[in-house]
Amino acid sequence: MPREPQSGAVKLVGAGPGAADLLTLRALRAVEGAQALLYDALISEEVLALAPAGCLKIQTGKRAGRASMRQETINRLMLRLARRGLNVVRLKGGDPSVFGRVGEEVAFLAGHGIATEVVPGVTAACAAAAQFNFPLTHRGQARRAVFTTARLEAGTLQADWSAAADPQATLAIYMGGGAAEELGARLVAAGRAASTPALAVENAGSPWARLTRGTVGDLGRLVEGAKGGPVLLVVGEVAALASDGAVGEALDQALSA
Ligand code: SAH
Repeated sequence: MPREPQSGAVKLVGAGPGAADLLTLRALRAVEGAQALLYDALISEEVLALAPAGCLKIQTGKRAGRASMRQETINRLMLRLARRGLNVVRLKGGDPSVFGRVGEEVAFLAGHGIATEVVPGVTAACAAAAQFNFPLTHRGQARRAVFTTARLEAGTLQADWSAAADPQATLAIYMGGGAAEELGARLVAAGRAASTPALAVENAGSPWARLTRGTVGDLGRLVEGAKGGPVLLVVGEVAALASDGAVGEALDQALSA
């Protein structure tokens, strides 16, 4: 009797913010061993270049004017490739578990008997904090860091206000660039002081990253000069510590203060 081909497994891998040296070793090994790679729009060329020459590379996110694949299509594609026995890598920007729909993809694959493994990555908030020398939590200033999102849907702002008024919460807001002005106004209405430090970081983790500093009261202004890259908004006292100098410079300043 012919044997059923062995189903391959799917690795859902965090690619970090773009620079290849911010991949974990586990992520690097997964990419190097991939036979099929499905990747999001935020994945850099530098990381894609690490896949083996014969690897089937499929772009699933919006790029160069092409529309994103529907989630259902991505799920079916992963399943088909895994059933052919291939090592499938689903490569996602940052960390797969932070606004990465990893839960849906794992549940779909598990429901079809495909083994999955999640490989973590450096999420945008951590990349921005490291690059611009501010902590996400800080003794006496920020006792929690909230990864949250905000979006305008049909002109209405969709966001979670539960931590908005806590002066000791750092808000790392994903996908909020397009709604920044309204978001700032709503944070103030929810009880956050308009003078709370805030920043926007575009393309965190790359050499062309762009930091803009301000306050919650002028959150809209912070995204004005954005060039179309992904933008993370950060709200909270820790934003005042951000600097685009080297860490050494920031340390010098701190020591001489
Ligand atoms: N899983 C990703 C987030 C995906 S949601 C992660 O962990 O980082 C997409 C949003 O993430 C973007 O709209 C933006 O707000 C943020 N983002 C992703 N990469 C970024 C980067 N390099 N710089 C700034 N923001 C980024």
